[in-house]
Amino acid sequence: MSFSTLGLSDAIVRAVTEQGYTSPTPIQAQAIPAVLNGGDLLAGAQTGTGKTAGFTLPILQLLSSDKAGQALKNKTAPRAIRALVLTPTRELAAQVEESVRVYGKYTNLNSAVIFGGVGINPQIKLLKHGVDVLVATPGRLLDHAGQGTVDLSRIEILILDEADRMLDMGFIHDIKKVLALLPPKRQNLLFSATFSDDIKALADKLLNNPHAIEVARRNSTVEVIAQKIHPVDRDKKHPMLSHLIKENNWHQVLVFTRTKHGANKLVEQLGRDGIGAMAIHGNKSQSARTKALAEFKDGSLQVLVATDIAARGIDIDQLPHVVNYDLPNVPEDYVHRIGRTGRAGATGEAVSLVCVDEHQMLKDIEKLIKQTLPRHVIPGFEPDPTAKAQPIQLRSGAPGHANRGGRPGGRGGQGQSRAAGAGGNGGGNGGRPANAGGSRPAGANGGNRNGSNASRGPRTGSAPRRDR
Ligand code: AMP
Repeated sequence: MSFSTLGLSDAIVRAVTEQGYTSPTPIQAQAIPAVLNGGDLLAGAQTGTGKTAGFTLPILQLLSSDKAGQALKNKTAPRAIRALVLTPTRELAAQVEESVRVYGKYTNLNSAVIFGGVGINPQIKLLKHGVDVLVATPGRLLDHAGQGTVDLSRIEILILDEADRMLDMGFIHDIKKVLALLPPKRQNLLFSATFSDDIKALADKLLNNPHAIEVARRNSTVEVIAQKIHPVDRDKKHPMLSHLIKENNWHQVLVFTRTKHGANKLVEQLGRDGIGAMAIHGNKSQSARTKALAEFKDGSLQVLVATDIAARGIDIDQLPHVVNYDLPNVPEDYVHRIGRTGRAGATGEAVSLVCVDEHQMLKDIEKLIKQTLPRHVIPGFEPDPTAKAQPIQLRSGAPGHANRGGRPGGRGGQGQSRAAGAGGNGGGNGGRPANAGGSRPAGANGGNRNGSNASRGPRTGSAPRRDR
């Protein structure tokens, strides 16, 4: 199958071909015709499946080929925002907008991205200039709406990307507020990796007789990711990681830690071992995040240490190694994490350093992925068989305070309160002037327009995600 047989124009097919993509991925093959048909869409797909092009290509096609699109060509009408993409994080917003630009380069459409944590004035300028496709995180979009610097009255297509993450991060109220600002007659596309009751409720409210598609969870089907568990003592994780990196000559390693503090500490420890590492998490300024990501992508930074939310949406082609330095609190995050590697047919390796405290978490993960992961003890790092599990420290600098319901490694009932502790200052870069360089604002998450998201109410049923 080719992109042109899906009904895309030459201008769009040309841009896609230039990216080296010759055939659509399964989500693209299904989503593109469905969106071109004009109806609502409910799509189950996660990062790495090609979902971004799955909605970007058809919306560019729709917007460039209709009357208004033609008028743009003839420069007979001012621009109006006709498509709005909402995303949970700054990185994802930036990536989606980049895709819109890349795929739309031979159309007359333009795009912009807006999010919090950077100066609002450059964004106001961009919006004033006229934008066809706007990619935004919800909070900053509402800021603009509140001060009358964005006009959402002409939206024809709304896309909620990674809707499950937006709900996890407590954005439901913001999303509802945005919805209230949109014209009632529009096309709605909802993309989500998972379908909780909350997502179903949102879909019911938002979508009108949607076409539903779902592509297999990438990581349950893609066997190209070699997964391995290295049992290790709690205090030997850092030497083990340095050993693995040096011994195997790993050059591009994405390492996940549970907390921001843990990420910073590990960066220092690796540095002392002569391994170049940087951290990316919600307490880092946008310029630091952008720099770390750029250096990691171009291969000049050996190790990127990230927390889950910060890493969400990071798209690195052919990332060879993902390390779970700590297992994630939420089993689903394991799937998201390891999905950073082994993309688009490349082989990848995901290793997890698991200490006695994390055995229950590992069990939960294995239950979710329906696999028992191979254990591989590394000589010299044999774990102490008599070691006792200790409560997992979920927040930085508060030893023993937040455990998983008091049950070592268990699934605690304190999710709501402890998550706030883990990321209570996730809004540390709120209000900072734009510093990412370039004319386009880049960076920051949307929900955090006051520089703190502590006010964002937790949603019921799942821990709010505050560590960005
Ligand atoms: P996404 O799921 O949108 O994050 O995309 C995951 C990765 O797949 C990105 O690096 C895309 O550039 C890449 N990609 C998108 N469409 C295709 C395609 N048709 N063939 C191969 N790779 C693709």
